[in-house]
Amino acid sequence: MKIHEYQGKEILRQFDVPVPKGIPAFNVQEAVEAAQKLGGPVWVVKAQIHAGGRGKGGGVKVAKTLDDVKALSERILGMQLVTHQTGPEGQKVRRLYIEEGADIQKEFYVSLVTDRGTQKVALIASSEGGMDIEEVAHSTPEKIITEMVDPLVGLTDEQAAKVAKAIGMEGHTVDQAVTLFKNLYRCYMETDASLVEINPLNRDSKGNLIALDAKFNFDANALFRHPEIVAYRDLDEEDPAEIEASKFDLAYISLDGNIGCLVNGAGLAMSTMDTIKLFGGEPANFLDVGGGATAEKVTEAFKIMLKNPDVKGILVNIFGGIMKCDTIAQGVITACKAVNLQVPLVVRMKGTNEDLGKKMLAESGLPIISADTMAEAATKIVAAVK
Ligand code: ADP
Ligand code: MG
Repeated sequence: MKIHEYQGKEILRQFDVPVPKGIPAFNVQEAVEAAQKLGGPVWVVKAQIHAGGRGKGGGVKVAKTLDDVKALSERILGMQLVTHQTGPEGQKVRRLYIEEGADIQKEFYVSLVTDRGTQKVALIASSEGGMDIEEVAHSTPEKIITEMVDPLVGLTDEQAAKVAKAIGMEGHTVDQAVTLFKNLYRCYMETDASLVEINPLNRDSKGNLIALDAKFNFDANALFRHPEIVAYRDLDEEDPAEIEASKFDLAYISLDGNIGCLVNGAGLAMSTMDTIKLFGGEPANFLDVGGGATAEKVTEAFKIMLKNPDVKGILVNIFGGIMKCDTIAQGVITACKAVNLQVPLVVRMKGTNEDLGKKMLAESGLPIISADTMAEAATKIVAAVK
């Protein structure tokens, strides 16, 4: 789950990571009042969307007068902000953050991310923070420093100091960085984040560090123990189909292709998408119905897939383990009738009660195309949507 920058900064404050003073605003009047409260003399008007690259897209602007704050807020609020992370259609700006302007001397980069390969937390830092970090990682990867933190030990003072010096910090800034990195690490662990990124981490002319941006991702599987983070959820920033799917406990991700996929198990869903691509097709979604795929869940899954006008066919690929194939067959038949299915449907099922499931589909009178192997299923659905 993602949150807005201003929410991320509220969390950082709780963990004693220094951030500028700022106030969120939902309309222009609130933005001007926020600026008056902060007092100036320089403010930054920042678009709040769940995507980075806002500065380059025109969503972060410096204001030197209250009139500037007003004019910039009018311009940014409601704009369709396009960044390298939003896609060409952009994202509508519905919230602003009015923040004190910082004295920027040097912009660093720092982030923490779970590294599944080593089962550690990677502390990643760079002297070249700011708006071109992707370019730095691409063309001068040696300027990106990575330190692996063993979660059983935690981030040590030595490791934090080593990273701070490696990115060119000196004197009392190193001491500040050690405290800051350790607080950030504690924040990352205690909130069950899967990513926290401060870019830029600013050093001002007095050598003091302050976080000017804050990006968080949280592990969705841990949200049940963080109601305070769930409260930050902003449904305006999420895909409506994905929100609908989450109500039925379906793991659904929208994609750009035209073949809807309904699969049980994330691994099988991934390999089904791969197989579709291998045979020249493009999946329209990732959809894992999970272990308990009832007729109701399958029907909802069909409805969600079919709301996408690009879907020209559906592939159902089910492994019957605990979930029996005849239950799935019943779900598919009920769903087809409930949604009055108009696009071709290929079904492959293997496992428990496979023969019974296949027989039910064959006798349903519905135009369901049956397949035995994944290759056959993919070939048939790709042909059917052409
Ligand atoms: P994004 O990463 O989405 O472009 P940032 O919050 O990093 O958004 O802002 C972009 C740039 O704007 C930063 O790299 C920094 O140079 C500048 N900036 C952001 N916040 C402030 C602030 N409070 N004071 C001064 N400059 C800022
Ligand atoms: Mg940034």
